[in-house]
Amino acid sequence: MHSSRPSSRLTFPEAEARLPWLATLLEMYALSDRGVAEAIRRQEVLGRRLACGPGCAACCRCHLDIPVYPLELTGIYWYVLEETQGPQRVALQENLAAYRQGEACPFLLDDTCGIHPMRPMACRNFNVFGRPCAEGEDAFHSRRGDVLDPPRESQRAALERMLVAHGVRPKAARRARVRSGQVHVLAQVLQKVDWRRLAARMEGGQGSGPGPEDPGATGI
Ligand code: SF4
Ligand code: SF4
Repeated sequence: MHSSRPSSRLTFPEAEARLPWLATLLEMYALSDRGVAEAIRRQEVLGRRLACGPGCAACCRCHLDIPVYPLELTGIYWYVLEETQGPQRVALQENLAAYRQGEACPFLLDDTCGIHPMRPMACRNFNVFGRPCAEGEDAFHSRRGDVLDPPRESQRAALERMLVAHGVRPKAARRARVRSGQVHVLAQVLQKVDWRRLAARMEGGQGSGPGPEDPGATGI
């Protein structure tokens, strides 16, 4: 799952001009990613080695309860519908069309995340030190000490930014909803989403439009 250690915010200028929520989502991910990258650097200074890397994906197969927020779902819908093409798109559509709720994440393609720029914050935050996870191993349970603790402040800042897309404008209100944990009522489980709906939209050749739901319309 792991952070890709981005040094800057992802940009999709044309799409961001059309879709105001996308800029908010990318800012949210940048806040979260920077905090995680800094936390990894601090551990590396202490001599720890990050085990996560390209092609390492046992975590994607064994985690069955990845939280995903409505804005993130909208981002995934957009990315799959508008940004994927060729064999990657075909493979994603096959996975999504065959998906049964409760199975492992359908976005894993040949041990690579097929939605990497838009993978949820929970995936971005899951980083393991030492040795790569064994197949079926959830390091969170087997060796909690090797799992990075994402910095609380950057995670809070990211979630506060997300609430802008839900129409919660006053900073104090966003902060209160994040600090109280109220924000988490918005989260769904990625593996419980009916991804066949997205497969059907790919077939229909529809543009992104709103995602599975309009994040701005979700009350909190
Ligand atoms: S080391 Fe574990 S958490 Fe990191 S990418 Fe590999 S399987 Fe995933
Ligand atoms: S979205 Fe799926 S494939 Fe991508 S990192 Fe998360 S669990 Fe892995």
